[in-house]
Amino acid sequence: MESVIIGIDLGGTNLRIGAVTPDNRMLAPRVMKSSIVADAKNPIGKICEIITGYIEQNQLENVEAISIGVPSSVENDKETVICTTNIRNRAGEVVFSHTNMAKDVREHFQIPVFINNDVNNIMLYDIAANQLEEKKVVVGIYIGTGVGASVVIDGKPLEGKNGAELDIGHMPYFQGEVECSCGKKGCCECYASGWRLQEIRKKYYPDTDIKDMFTQHKDERPLKEFIQACANIYAVMATIFNPDTMIVGGGVPEMKDFPKEEFEREVNKNTGTDVMYYGFDYLYSREFVGKGVIGAAVFARRKLRPI
Ligand SMILES: [Zn+2]
Repeated sequence: MESVIIGIDLGGTNLRIGAVTPDNRMLAPRVMKSSIVADAKNPIGKICEIITGYIEQNQLENVEAISIGVPSSVENDKETVICTTNIRNRAGEVVFSHTNMAKDVREHFQIPVFINNDVNNIMLYDIAANQLEEKKVVVGIYIGTGVGASVVIDGKPLEGKNGAELDIGHMPYFQGEVECSCGKKGCCECYASGWRLQEIRKKYYPDTDIKDMFTQHKDERPLKEFIQACANIYAVMATIFNPDTMIVGGGVPEMKDFPKEEFEREVNKNTGTDVMYYGFDYLYSREFVGKGVIGAAVFARRKLRPI
């Protein structure tokens, strides 16, 4: 039997698990609620239990590694989760804060275990799926419930001193006043996110289904401003990084009738002149539930066999 890597995408709502083959096929995908882990007395023990059940159920014999994506920055050891703001237990407490998640899992299964930021994993999937490995600079910004960003330079994900880099969703817009869940005011996420789109819907279009927001209202001012707010983040990142390719992803741009042309016009208009002289490609990440699971396996493979 060919070897597999078990990939896990532990999101704010759902936990997805799958066995990923060397050619990036996902076998036996399963999904469950993340609250099963969040509400457990011993969350890491619960993750081990889920993996054990998954291995037995699918009679997996040749598991090379386990790789887990989390909605948080991860320290450069790729073991320690910094803070999962949106994975909380019933008491409302953050479940993983400066927690070494890999150690116990590794000791339990006696195979390599890697932890990585979920957006970084999805970006590695998008790079592999679109053959962007040879590009010099690829920037990915994913607008979902919040905003996540990842940058790959010369094939390597950009790492800050500790692993806390690129938390751009929580950088305040100048004079922004909206209160953010992180405790600050006016963060990008308060203006460009799925959360904001819901707020716009509630205020202006209570009778419109969230999935029809662009289809029905993209030419009206609230959504035009929303697109401008999203575009601004991409323009800042394009100006800083002078990328080959800008990956546009996450639940919001992946929605039906997201106005790509208008969005790109806004990004281009706000990107620095020198960068725009050379320009860059846009690549739209396609909706696919397996991205985080396969991306986790791609990450593990890179760690096991560095290029
Ligand atoms: Zn914030």
